[in-house]
Amino acid sequence: MTAGPLTLADVRDLHQRWLAGAEFDIGYPNAVDFDVSTLLRLFDVTLNNVGHPFAATTGFSGHTLGLEQQLIRELGAMFRCPPDLVTGFVTSGSTAAVKAALLQARRRFRRRVVVYASTAAHTCVAKAADELCMRLQLVPAGLDGVMDVAALTELVAQRPAGAAVVVVATIGTTIVEAVDAVPAIHAALDAAGVPADRRWVHADAALAGIPLATLDPADRPRFDFAADVDSLNISGHKFLGVPTPCGAVVLRADRCPAQDQTTTYTGAPDLTPAGSRSGHTPLLMLAALHSFGAEGLRMRAEQCRRNAAELVDLFAAADVPAWRHQLGFTVVIPAPSPQLQARWPLPVVGEWGHVICMPGKPFHWYERFAAEYVADRNAAGQHPPAPHVPGQRVVADADHEEAIAC
Ligand SMILES: *Cc1c(COP(=O)(O)O)cnc(C)c1O
Repeated sequence: MTAGPLTLADVRDLHQRWLAGAEFDIGYPNAVDFDVSTLLRLFDVTLNNVGHPFAATTGFSGHTLGLEQQLIRELGAMFRCPPDLVTGFVTSGSTAAVKAALLQARRRFRRRVVVYASTAAHTCVAKAADELCMRLQLVPAGLDGVMDVAALTELVAQRPAGAAVVVVATIGTTIVEAVDAVPAIHAALDAAGVPADRRWVHADAALAGIPLATLDPADRPRFDFAADVDSLNISGHKFLGVPTPCGAVVLRADRCPAQDQTTTYTGAPDLTPAGSRSGHTPLLMLAALHSFGAEGLRMRAEQCRRNAAELVDLFAAADVPAWRHQLGFTVVIPAPSPQLQARWPLPVVGEWGHVICMPGKPFHWYERFAAEYVADRNAAGQHPPAPHVPGQRVVADADHEEAIAC
């Protein structure tokens, strides 16, 4: 590529290069089937959603705050939040969404609070807790990646006297797509003697929230507002396939503390942690939801589950101990060799890695990987790895002795 401004030829080359690389990105949870072409017309106007989508705004007209509010209401309905209690906003991604929810909890409990998440939770929980000076306690996850709720009860029972409790439930963990059980988390908090008004349960549903919400209520794991979460987030660039990172946090308004009333230059109350925010990403997410439609979303999720099941069968036929959670898109496999990882950039934790069957990624991409993987494994005569042990280390309590308030 030449230096200086991009020419059309440069753009074409970059596009070709990214397209060619896409079929090796089967370890990352980005759907690739959302057609943005009808929205391209909107990329020559400035759209800046400064302020809050649920607050009145005046002045600057280049925003999509009304559509952002509609998106949050539709997500609220999908995740069974009472319609008169839904609030929230679009963020730059799930990391920012999780942090925004933790900030609300921190304000509500006036910083006397401990955050609990499992060792298999996304690293953004630790990052957000650190940035917000909130004490974090990691709870062991089982070999299946699900939070050990008996351990949660024990750890919560040891919290400093009077501390409120925030639990981040992960709805689709990063490596194995495990789903924490929200009713079991509430039961664990009951057992540890946490009053209902001294707890906040957040569902980090970045990847799996929307696909699981397409299931009939009877088949759906219980993770949403109907299971009494206080807040929930999703990413827009994962299952929805929005081509730029974005996310959304949905909150129960009655659980949020009174808001900071700083006013922006446009006259809108500045209720979101960011200042200027994208006006395009709410549009892209709303357009994705509407263009697929409820039935389309359901069929895409079904197709991914079928692909994942078929891929497990392919591996099993070659004696590879691959496995998946029944409702997940993620196929967990012994970590590929370094040579194979150089060609296929899959996430690997310890001795395990995964591929994720995502919408728009054709099955033959996965078949090709499986064939190369099996050939490589047979050539190396590999042995089965030790059982998968989820992610992060459990932080010893003493590490956070002083961190309850800052
Ligand atoms: C992807 C993911 C995140 C991080 O999301 P970003 O949108 O990349 O910030 C957080 N939690 C879970 C469970 C995820 O799958």
